[in-house]
Amino acid sequence: MPPKGFCARMAALLGPAEYDAFAASWERPRLPSLRLNPLKGCPPGLRERFGLTPVPWTADGFYFDPAVRPGLSPWHDAGAYYLQEASAMAPATLLDVRPGMRVLDLCAAPGGKSAQLAAMLDGRGLLVSNEIDPKRAAVLSRNLERMAAANVLVLNEHPAKLAERFPAAFDRVLVDAPCSGEGMFRKEEAAVAGWSEEQVAACARRQREILESAAAMLRPGGRLVYSTCTFAPEENEGVVSVFLLAHPDFSVAAVDAPWFSPGRPDWVSGPAPGLERTFRLWPHKLVGEGHFAAVLQRAGDEPLLGWDSGRPAPEPAELRDFRAALGLPLPPGQIFSFGKTLWLAPEGLPPLRGLKVLRPGLELGEVRKGRFEPAHAWALWLRDCPAAVSYPDDSPEIAAYLSGAPIPGEARGWTLVLADGLSLGWCKGSGGTLKNHYPKGLRRVIR
Ligand code: SAM
Repeated sequence: MPPKGFCARMAALLGPAEYDAFAASWERPRLPSLRLNPLKGCPPGLRERFGLTPVPWTADGFYFDPAVRPGLSPWHDAGAYYLQEASAMAPATLLDVRPGMRVLDLCAAPGGKSAQLAAMLDGRGLLVSNEIDPKRAAVLSRNLERMAAANVLVLNEHPAKLAERFPAAFDRVLVDAPCSGEGMFRKEEAAVAGWSEEQVAACARRQREILESAAAMLRPGGRLVYSTCTFAPEENEGVVSVFLLAHPDFSVAAVDAPWFSPGRPDWVSGPAPGLERTFRLWPHKLVGEGHFAAVLQRAGDEPLLGWDSGRPAPEPAELRDFRAALGLPLPPGQIFSFGKTLWLAPEGLPPLRGLKVLRPGLELGEVRKGRFEPAHAWALWLRDCPAAVSYPDDSPEIAAYLSGAPIPGEARGWTLVLADGLSLGWCKGSGGTLKNHYPKGLRRVIR
């Protein structure tokens, strides 16, 4: 049950008739949703098996039958989709990202929206995906690996530090801000337990700081989306209003999104112009949880400055031999080593010195004792590999593979394992057995 103070505030804001509809929405069963990953492709039969119906505002978003468990399918391990709440798909959709852009996701873990942004970039341009909390940053990095995002730099930094480092450096910025989570009361008990009016005020202060840093990183002519999953006007229209009044070069863009309700300038004092063009997603008006999003446009039109990405390393002979044996071309980007690991940096990677970097592009692998050992990330990224074995997702071979067991097979050397044509990981064949190279930390038993 939501906190009393929250209910009283919402009743006063919405009035009795709408408040009743709003409160009734907490009792309605939730319809779960997922976003298909175009970077991997959709395995045959998935739509029918999961009973998919479209989320109206996001091309790859679908509700699924609550009786099915897509998170348990090997297709999930292969990155075919990301389980993402339908309203949470809106902010990245509103950001209007196109291939080739330089995009920043400032508060990115666990990564649903970053994965969506990476899919919109379609391998071209750069996504900088940042998370302040180190443990959450590690989860973000793993999720982006699973979702086959290659042109991504994953960082674990404070927004203020990034703002110093990257002034006016991005075409698009997403601020999916930490908030009091009132829109999640239906979904998460923890959001109810942690709520207080003081927490709402503290969140609003922090959001204003984060938005300042974010805005400093947007180029003139660029677009920024500020979003929360809370209803509190202080954290939504309030934060945006204070920001707009202090930054006359920003305005609320007019975006056509008929599924969403207008923001409420009448809920804050001395509102900045344009707040009615922000969006509220109400659980009693659409099939999804509560959210808020504001699309902010920065005036002007300045191109991005290039970054000096340093000199690429030559391709090591061990990697060349590996590629030749498997018939693999080198993906676009430039090779460099970071510690013992070889990476493929996306075009236009910034200098990384002094930054806490978890993932600087696509991890290729390591040279060990004169031989190349391919990384799991590369396996997940690959869509075409001549040296591959494919099994149905419900086959004993895929169950064995995900559990870490060897599988019988005549392939020789490094081979890609596919579930219904979607890459899942590496194995290495010799003498009629495919030795398992699925990462230990990801292994699981399929029932
Ligand atoms: N965009 C994410 C997604 O789609 O999966 C969800 C982001 S969540 C709403 C907000 C994130 O902001 C959390 O991961 C939290 O750790 C992070 N955060 C907390 N305090 C922060 C701060 N001061 N600056 C930046 N991010 C912060």
